[in-house]
Parts: sequence; structure tokens; C-alpha cells
Amino acid sequence: MKFTRDLTCVSCGSKNLCYGYTGTTTNIFVPSGTFVVHGYRTRSYVCLDCGNIGQYIPESKLERLRQKFSSR
Ligand SMILES: [Zn+2]
Repeated sequence: MKFTRDLTCVSCGSKNLCYGYTGTTTNIFVPSGTFVVHGYRTRSYVCLDCGNIGQYIPESKLERLRQKFSSR
């Protein structure tokens, strides 16, 4: 998986991150609206410097989300 941006810790700005997933099906972002049938599985990271856990949506899925919103 290729990222087009560098993810940094939102708390301390470190790039020393460990990527993974948290939880199970509860961590799916579902945009409001009637045009989406599937949610978007969020990815998570834990900062190895300060322990902050963040979540984000992978760039590939984000691009699809942008296209859906721009086509409304
Ligand atoms: Zn941090």
C-alpha cells in the first residue's frame, strides 16, 4: 500500500509510527447519505514516541470518497 502523504502523530508530530487496525467492525467510517452501501475500514497507528493512537482512511479509499462527493 502506497501513501501519497506522510502521516505524522497528531499529538507530537513524530513519524515513528506503528500501523495496524484497532477494534473490529466498530471502526468503520460510514459517510452520511444514501449513496454509500459500504463503510470505509479505518486504519490506525500508534505513535512509538508518545503512545497516541490515531485513525485514518487509506488514500485509495479516500480518493473514492472524494469522487463520490464530487459527483453529487
Ligand atoms: Zn506521538
